[in-house]
Amino acid sequence: MEMQQRVLFVDPATGFYKTRKYGLDRYFGPADLGIHLVEKHRSLNFGVGIFAGSIFPGSNRMVMTAYSPCWQGYYISSMGGAGLVFNNLGINMLSLVGKAPVLSVLFLNRNHGEEIEVEVVPIDVEAVWGTGRKGVYSLTDHVYENFGNRYENDPRILAAGPAALHTDMGGIMSVPITKGKISSVDTWAGRGGLGSAMVQNHGIVAIIYGGTFIDEDFRDHKVADEWFQNKYNLRLMPKDLETTSKYRYDEKVGTGGTFGVNYATMGGRIMAFNYRTIFQSEDERQSLHKHYILDHYLKQFNEETIALKQQANCGEPCVAVCKKMNGEFKKDYEPYQTMGPLCGIFDQRAAEKLNHHCDAMGFDAISGGGVLAWLMELLLDGTLNMAELGVTRTPRWDIDDFDIIADSMHNAELGCELIDAILARRGILDFREGVRKWSRTNSVGRNSPLHDSLVYIAFSRRGWMVPNQYWVAGALSPMTIMGKYYMVYGNDFIPPRELGRKCAERLKKELILDNLGICRFHRGWAEELLPEVIGSLYDRKDQFIHAVNVLASRLNSRNCPVFWESERNIDFVHTFLKRKRDVDNDPNPELAVWIEKFEKDKVEGAREFWYETLKGIDESLLELY
Ligand code: SF4
Repeated sequence: MEMQQRVLFVDPATGFYKTRKYGLDRYFGPADLGIHLVEKHRSLNFGVGIFAGSIFPGSNRMVMTAYSPCWQGYYISSMGGAGLVFNNLGINMLSLVGKAPVLSVLFLNRNHGEEIEVEVVPIDVEAVWGTGRKGVYSLTDHVYENFGNRYENDPRILAAGPAALHTDMGGIMSVPITKGKISSVDTWAGRGGLGSAMVQNHGIVAIIYGGTFIDEDFRDHKVADEWFQNKYNLRLMPKDLETTSKYRYDEKVGTGGTFGVNYATMGGRIMAFNYRTIFQSEDERQSLHKHYILDHYLKQFNEETIALKQQANCGEPCVAVCKKMNGEFKKDYEPYQTMGPLCGIFDQRAAEKLNHHCDAMGFDAISGGGVLAWLMELLLDGTLNMAELGVTRTPRWDIDDFDIIADSMHNAELGCELIDAILARRGILDFREGVRKWSRTNSVGRNSPLHDSLVYIAFSRRGWMVPNQYWVAGALSPMTIMGKYYMVYGNDFIPPRELGRKCAERLKKELILDNLGICRFHRGWAEELLPEVIGSLYDRKDQFIHAVNVLASRLNSRNCPVFWESERNIDFVHTFLKRKRDVDNDPNPELAVWIEKFEKDKVEGAREFWYETLKGIDESLLELY
C-alpha cells in the first residue's frame, strides 16, 4: 500500500497551488499532519485518513484542523462522509494558506488522472444567502447550479453561512449529493467555528470538490474478516452492527440515535431552561422528564422518525444509519437539546423551526443554542431588556403554567429573533470577537458579570466553548481542546485527579480515530483494531501510536485553561456531585470530601477540583516523547 500523504496547498489570495508529499513516518493522518501545518502556516486543513475509500465502516470522515476563532487555540473538527468524494481527488489533504481578496468559492476537480483543476471564483455571497432556501442551503444550491455540471461523478460541497462572517462560531455544512440530487442530510463540522476561520481568514465561503481518481484502497473483505474474527470472534459486519446499535436502534430502550437514546435514559439528569433545572429537586426534574420529554418530545420523535424508519447515513455506506430524520429535519441530541429543553422548547415543531434557522445561518448549533438559552435567561430576569437584544418578546419559562406547544413555539420564535439580532448586530449585540469578550465589556457597572449564567469553558484570553450536553464534571474539564469528546462524559463520579488522567487517556484514544479519519461511532472496535491493521499493512503500529502520543502532548503543551469564570459552571459541578450522593447513592468516600469543600466555600472548592483535574491531565500528557 502507498505510504505517503499528498497535500494540496492552495493560496486563495492568488489561486496558486502546489502539492507536497509527506512520508508515513512522522505524520500519519489528518490530525497530526494538520496540526503541524496549522503551526507552520496558520492554515485551514481538510484531510482524510489513510483508510478513506476502504471497506472499513466510518473511514470517510473529513477532519479539519485550524486555529479556532472561538476557542482561540488549535482545533480539530470533523464531518461524516465528506471524505468519500474527497478521496476522488487523489489527495489526502487540502491546505488553505492566504486569503482571497473578495469572498469566493473554491472549485477543485480532478478528471481522469489529470492534474487537479483549481479555481477561486468570487461570489456575491450575501445575496445568495438571502435567497431561496437561505444561508448554507441556498449557497449549496447556487454552487451546485454553477459548477455541478463540470463533474462526471457527484461532487460534494462544503458551505458556510452568515454566522461565519459575523461571529466566531460559524460551522461548515455539507450534504451528500446522489445522482444529481442534493439531500437534506446535513453533516457538520460545527465545533470550533472553523466556518468562521474559512470565511474570515481565507475568504472562502464554499468549496466544491470531486473527481474520478481511483486509489488503491484496502478492500479485501476476507483479510478484514480474519482480523475481526481473531480479535472479536465475529466478522467485520456483525461486529460493526453490534458496536453501532445505539446509533441505529437500541432494543433495550426502544429507540435509536443520539436523540432517542439520550432522552430515553436521562431521567433526572435532564438539563433545561439554561441549566436552571440543576437547582430543582430530583422529583421536579423527573416530572419534567416524564411529562415533557417521554410523553411528548421523545414520543413525537419515536412516532415520526423511528417508527417510520426515517434514517440515513452521512454519505458513506454505513449500517449505523445514525442520521435520524423527519422530512428535511435531522435530529441529533445536542442541537435538539441546546435548541430544545435548554431554551424552554419541548415540542418537535418548535425545535425544528429554531434548529433549521440556526443551521441555515451556519452556526455551530451547540454553541449557538447555549448562547440563545443564556440570552433568554438574561431577558427573563430583566438583566437585559428587549431593546438591548433587538427582540420583541421575552421567554415563557414558567413550568407551572407551561403550554407545551404554544410556549415552545413562542420560545423558538424568540430564538429565531435572537439569531437575526446577533447577525444584524441589533441593540448591544456584537459577537464578532465572541461572547466572552462581549460579556466582559458589557458587564461593566453591573452587580455581577453577564456570563455568570452562561455555562462555558474558558480558554486563553477570550476563547470560549459551550460544553457538550451532559451534566457531568468531565464536560467542563480543563483540556486543551474542549467542546468535543476529548474528555470523559460518563455519569460516574470520578475523583478529579483521576478524572484528569482519564480525560488525557480519552484524548489519546480519540486522536487515534481523528488521525485515521474514522467516525467515533465505530470506536468500539476501531480504536483498538485499526492500529493493529496499520501494523499488518504498513508495519508501523508502534510509530503510529507514538505519533498520536506526540500529538497529544504537543496539543497539551499549548493548553491555556482558565478556571471557571461563571458561577453557573461552579453550580453545575456542585449540583452534579450532590446528585451523585443523594440520588445515585454513590458510596465513594472522596465524593463526600469534595461536597464538603464546595459547601464550605463553593468558589474555593471548585478551584481545587479544577486544579486537581488539571494536575491529572498534565501528569498524563507531559511525558517526553
Ligand atoms: S455512524 Fe453516522 S456519521 Fe458515522 S459513518 Fe455511520 S452514518 Fe456516518
